[in-house]
Amino acid sequence: MNLRFCESCRSLVLAEFRFCPYCGAPMSRGPGLDEALSLPLARIEKARDGQARFAYLAERLDRLEADMDLILSQLDAEMGPAAKK
Ligand SMILES: [Zn+2]
Repeated sequence: MNLRFCESCRSLVLAEFRFCPYCGAPMSRGPGLDEALSLPLARIEKARDGQARFAYLAERLDRLEADMDLILSQLDAEMGPAAKK
């Protein structure tokens, strides 16, 4: 089923309709549903990229934290428990 949005009232209207049944505005040969959805989909795709990037950074941070723990535990071992806060 081919649907498109009315440019006047934003209602979803059958593509065959020459006039919007909701507001009566003439239907132009504007973007169909696929085109109308492609922009939000592109935005979702971008958000997914952002999430992957964040997961990667979080993983790096975890590794850095593990390294810090290792270094601190080695310092503790060298300096003895007295050096502990
Ligand atoms: Zn309309």
